[in-house]
Amino acid sequence: MYYVSTRGNSEKVYSATAIKKGIANDGGLFMPERIPEIDTEFLKELMPISYSERAVKILSLFLDDYSADELKHAAEFAYGGNKFDTAPAPVVNLDKFIDVLELWHGPTAAFKDMALQICPTLLSQALVKTNEKGEAFILVATSGDTGKAALEGYKNVPGTRIMVFYPENGVSTVQKLQMATQEGDNVNVCAIKGCFDDAQTGVKNIFANDDIKKALADNGKFFSSANSINWGRLSPQIVYYFSAYCDMVKSGRINLGEKINVCVPTGNFGNIFAGYIAKLMGLPINKFICASNKNNILTDFINTGVYDRNREFHLTMSPSMDILISSNLERYLYLTCGSEKTCEYMNALSKNGVYQIDDNTLKTLQESFCGYYCDEEETANTIKATYDQEGYLSDTHTAVALHSAKKYISDTKDETPMLVVSTASPYKFADNVYFSLTGEKSKNSLKALEDLYNLTKVKIPVPLANIGERKVRFTKSIDKENMAQEVLKNM
Ligand SMILES: *Cc1c(COP(=O)(O)O)cnc(C)c1O
Repeated sequence: MYYVSTRGNSEKVYSATAIKKGIANDGGLFMPERIPEIDTEFLKELMPISYSERAVKILSLFLDDYSADELKHAAEFAYGGNKFDTAPAPVVNLDKFIDVLELWHGPTAAFKDMALQICPTLLSQALVKTNEKGEAFILVATSGDTGKAALEGYKNVPGTRIMVFYPENGVSTVQKLQMATQEGDNVNVCAIKGCFDDAQTGVKNIFANDDIKKALADNGKFFSSANSINWGRLSPQIVYYFSAYCDMVKSGRINLGEKINVCVPTGNFGNIFAGYIAKLMGLPINKFICASNKNNILTDFINTGVYDRNREFHLTMSPSMDILISSNLERYLYLTCGSEKTCEYMNALSKNGVYQIDDNTLKTLQESFCGYYCDEEETANTIKATYDQEGYLSDTHTAVALHSAKKYISDTKDETPMLVVSTASPYKFADNVYFSLTGEKSKNSLKALEDLYNLTKVKIPVPLANIGERKVRFTKSIDKENMAQEVLKNM
């Protein structure tokens, strides 16, 4: 199957090349030429098998230039061993209407592990498959979780080198420490004085800069990306929607074929878009509830069709969703209204920071998506209410989704079983979770892990348990204008 650019140039590549390059030559994102379809038989086959076997079955529909053995090796390496402290994507029942899909049982305690544990293997296989002699230089902009998960996934992977930029004041203390203490010989981490969008824009500009690309090539290297603009990141995320659905059937929550709703705490629109692809493939999903924090640009977009980034940016307690440019929306636009209009909208976005989709596209959008958001106080109240009433401890991002899901249910009276996607361990944001529960601040962010444990007795994930004792390796912070220079210095 070929992959093409959302911006419509004539480039046509196999998935290995799409994964290797990360982004298309015209600045667009790679998309499969068609979306494969599945039937009930396919779902039945997924029922009895493990997560890693489910991953092979689904990925083989998209990455058809990879052999079955290659995919099996990649999936086993990611999900088959003991990198996850439970099954990789367990579904937990919350109440009469809501089940929670926990995606944070991996090595960095956030959902990014679901893709970033397998993506590096897919990339190193792609290098072999495409006869690539150069080294892949992975450049990452992160709002916190991607950076750590990518560092952990790529550390010491042959043929790769990774550099991560994060907003100095836009990530939690635990997130910062996780990155600053990263081990591995091929890793580098740098803070920038700016917000996530500055980091992301900086990285996109570096990817598009011919001078830097040439300098890199002269050095025997080429750029690749580990952000969800890379198809190698996005495609593994389709798997857990299938897996969750099968587990809900197996547990008797739903009947095979019955529709569910899915609520996703959203930033870059990658996670929810992977779910949308699952729906297009034939997984019985009715509606997606797109949950945002106070940076509610997507809520407005889904309600009005106007995407307007000219607005105040808020730092919230769910920092991985503090985003004003949701890159993967471009893929949705491409699927819905084609590359010509996508180009038009993306050009308007980069020129004026705003675009408006046409009425038909808006209508299609609203058939599958509802937008809800949750402010800081509601997030805190949701963490407390969910713990007090259901005995369930949720992180700040998941709380945004829980609030949105409950609001959707009470607004619409839609009683379709709801799957809420949980994206991080509560311990990753322990200070805000502890404060939400008690109204008291911990002495510092690391003490908060201990305080939260003493209060709830919920187990601290092993990778976060002794984070304060590890050696800090990376402390550099630079102006956002100097990102390109920093890359040149470190390539
Ligand atoms: C990355 C992240 C999100 C947002 O996911 P997108 O794919 O960018 O929409 C939500 N919650 C957490 C904890 C994350 O790390």
